[in-house]
Amino acid sequence: MGFMDDLKAVSGVEPCKVGRWLETIDDLYRAEVLQACEEGFPSKTIWRVIVNREGQVFSDSVFLRHRKGECGCEL
Ligand SMILES: [Zn+2]
Repeated sequence: MGFMDDLKAVSGVEPCKVGRWLETIDDLYRAEVLQACEEGFPSKTIWRVIVNREGQVFSDSVFLRHRKGECGCEL
C-alpha cells in the first residue's frame, strides 16, 4: 500500500466494509436493508440478520458507524 492509500484510509474517502458489502449484494436485498435502517430498526438487530445470512462480514461497531454516517460512504 502506498501513502495515498493510507491517506484515503484515514480520511474515509473509500467506502467502509459495510458500503463495500452493500455493493456486492443484489439490488432488492440492498433496498430492503436501507429501508430497514430508515424505518428505525436497531442497528444490532439489522446487523444480526446480516450476520445470519452472510456470516460475519464486519463487526456491529462498523455497521453502527456506517448507519451514523461516520464512515466515508455516500449512502
Ligand atoms: Zn460506510
